[in-house]
Amino acid sequence: MSTHEAGSLHAQGRAPAWLEVPQDVNALLQQIWPDTAHKGDDGVLRVGGLSAPEIVAQVGTPAFVLDEADFRGRAQAFAHAFADAFAHLAGARVHYAAKALISVGIARWLAEDDLAVDVCSDGELDTVLRGGIAPNRVTFHGSNKSDAELAQAMALGVDLIVIDSLAEIDQAERVAAALDCQPEVMLRCSIGVEAHTHEYIATSHEDQKFGLSVADGSAAQGVRRLAEQQRLQLRGLHTHIGSQIFDTEAFQLAIRRMARLTAQIEHEHGLNLPELGLGGGFGVAYTTGHDPLAPAAIAGRMAAHLEQECQAAGVAVPHVTIEPGRAIAGPAGVTLYTVGTVKPVTLDGGFTRLYVSVDGGMSDNIRTALYGAEYSATVASRYSTAPPQLSRVVGKHCESGDIVVKDEYLPADVAAGDILAVPVTGAYCHSMASNYNAIGRPPIASVRDGLLTVLVRRETMDDLLARDLFA
Ligand SMILES: *Cc1c(COP(=O)(O)O)cnc(C)c1O
Repeated sequence: MSTHEAGSLHAQGRAPAWLEVPQDVNALLQQIWPDTAHKGDDGVLRVGGLSAPEIVAQVGTPAFVLDEADFRGRAQAFAHAFADAFAHLAGARVHYAAKALISVGIARWLAEDDLAVDVCSDGELDTVLRGGIAPNRVTFHGSNKSDAELAQAMALGVDLIVIDSLAEIDQAERVAAALDCQPEVMLRCSIGVEAHTHEYIATSHEDQKFGLSVADGSAAQGVRRLAEQQRLQLRGLHTHIGSQIFDTEAFQLAIRRMARLTAQIEHEHGLNLPELGLGGGFGVAYTTGHDPLAPAAIAGRMAAHLEQECQAAGVAVPHVTIEPGRAIAGPAGVTLYTVGTVKPVTLDGGFTRLYVSVDGGMSDNIRTALYGAEYSATVASRYSTAPPQLSRVVGKHCESGDIVVKDEYLPADVAAGDILAVPVTGAYCHSMASNYNAIGRPPIASVRDGLLTVLVRRETMDDLLARDLFA
């Protein structure tokens, strides 16, 4: 298993602690691949009943491949888990956070499966409506909504508008008055709990743009302002503490702070707050370094915490909404690339890192560059007998930070023409994609039972130049 003269131990020293030298470099780590993904003895990846080469023959590379059964299964698992766990309380509803990944076809699945949706722009709103989501199944978020966005949301009759600032109270009131409607709203609060991955920070203050701060009195001021007017109907409070969270303690603390705040508001203002928004942020496994809880476990713990904290605070248990995005879309997506240039780079001490270039990069997955996100990869088109070689998957952009997978063991004979698959790219990859270097964005193809459906086609040169008035 030696990867070069110094042996694999040497290479391991350059790899992150969680990354183990694989026993079999062809094997899939099943927990980070979609439900239907598997490899046969030929080393070829199959997902949704189609092989990677069959998918590539139909849509080319790079391509986002979405396992429809996996996506819909995860959405349903969240919906059922939260409905069940909160049934003995006041109930809970799951809103899929559209910003993770949305298209009209995906919205259609959500509509068919009776999921509610969160949007945070008129573009996301339009997309989900075209997919058949009823306006009363939509919550409208955003920290800087335009008058036009608020007016559209109100005229359509979305279920809830989440107010994000004191200024937005006046703005929403004015827009609602012009439309002569009385929309229901939630007030987004920042509660000093900020969680990412394995750690959370609990402070009293929060130094970020979202919501009304509880610590500096803005949240209380917002409630007072809402209580004074007749136009906007305050249904409850909302908070969202971060993303890629594994730690249910962070949610427990958020629930405690929200229950206390609810009690304080009900006591001081005589307002009844029947709804509580607890946001999204449930973590997924991008690598073997992550171990997420199943939806039923998350729901069970959150229900227990809510019951306990509401009892302690002396308030009735509200109806709950949660907003998973990543945990539904992320694990359902795989990106397929074609390998091009492969370049060994020798570093200090004779250690070699293999730079494996693919035909996409930071334009289809910005998360590695933006957040230092970790991913995994496998050769999807053949079996290799070569030893594992510590590699870095990079893109074709003019930027040294154009890294897709920072550290992964790939077969040492990985070569131009191989198909490379990167799992867990369903969330925040297509939705954050760009046209950097005038490269068109990849298609989204859903696969199910051996059938491929192009949900979003590849962007063409004509698409790219469509806005260029001199083209
Ligand atoms: C981003 C966001 C979500 C979804 O977060 P995930 O980490 O994808 O689950 C939910 N609610 C709000 C308000 C958000 O901003």
